[in-house]
Amino acid sequence: KTEVDVLIIGGGPIGIASALQAKAKNLSYVVIEKGPLVNSLYHYPTNMTFFSTSDKLEIGGIPFISNNPKPTKSEALEYYRRIATSNNLKINLFEKVEKVEKTQNDFQVKSSKQTYSAKNVVVATGFYDIPNYMNVPGEDLPKVYHYYNDPHYFACQNVVVVGASNSSVDAALEIYRKGGNVTMIVRGKTIGERVKYWVKPDIENRIAEGNIQAFFNTKITKITENEVEIIDENGNKSILQNDFVLALTGYRPNFEFLEKMGVQLSSDGRKIPQYNDETMETNIEGIYLAGVICGGTETHKWFIENSRIHAHLIMDAISKK
Ligand code: FAD
Repeated sequence: KTEVDVLIIGGGPIGIASALQAKAKNLSYVVIEKGPLVNSLYHYPTNMTFFSTSDKLEIGGIPFISNNPKPTKSEALEYYRRIATSNNLKINLFEKVEKVEKTQNDFQVKSSKQTYSAKNVVVATGFYDIPNYMNVPGEDLPKVYHYYNDPHYFACQNVVVVGASNSSVDAALEIYRKGGNVTMIVRGKTIGERVKYWVKPDIENRIAEGNIQAFFNTKITKITENEVEIIDENGNKSILQNDFVLALTGYRPNFEFLEKMGVQLSSDGRKIPQYNDETMETNIEGIYLAGVICGGTETHKWFIENSRIHAHLIMDAISKK
């Protein structure tokens, strides 16, 4: 059985940053990642560019060279992959952690492939695995997507984009520019406040000139094979002809996974996990949190730039034990 000082769950940017720090502190470690390396990034839209400049995405002090002011998805994949390979990081891919059990002396971590003994566990599982479902009839139809990849697929089609945050706005603009007929269904009364400041005028002008249709203060109530039913704030229903629905309504961390380990979540609806912000240790001694998972349902709160520090805090705390 593999025994380690630290077992890191999740091979995203912050899991990798944690591995680099564990190595720097001479701690034995392994990263367990259920998909490919930096799985979340790999599933981002093909043409996405980061909102952060490349220096803000750097981990372990390793320079991230990009020719663009904001790096692209493929540059980021290249960067994090080269860090993993050139530092020979121990990362087991396509292996899912299913259970973490505290015993008297350590943790027994059961994955889809084997069981590990670990003195400490770092949970860096992000928030990109579970979409916020709309819970409307027809949401399970094959024409409904909760992840967006590439615009070409939607050319010459009637596409409803749900939501008005960065993901929805990027998808709406790209699909419109590749010949899709885009309608945005937005629960609030405007385009989201956190939409990138250089993108916001673009979407607002496309809506104003009528090239992208937008219904504000409106929700989807039903999806069928050829239509979508929507309702506005006054209760008026309308039917739209529709081929595809992109429900980009955000994602959430796997709270059940944390709760099963015994990690406490705040009861104010935000579900913020309990941790000491100097060490990142949770209410369960030996279980640490790193990266965007720390925000609970507030998934915009943490990103790479402000959470890469977690790797340092955790490995400093563990090496002092
Ligand atoms: P993740 O990258 O999500 O990594 C978590 C990993 O854990 C995943 O690879 C997942 O497969 C794995 N995992 C989950 N459960 C298990 C399990 N049970 N067993 C094994 N492995 C598991 N942030 C920025 O700083 N700048 C940006 O410009 C930026 N742009 C973004 C654009 C989009 C479209 C999105 C969705 C997010 C963006 N973010 C950005 C936020 C960004 O996703 C996070 O900052 C970053 O991915 C967080 O890294 P992480 O390591 O905490 O989590």
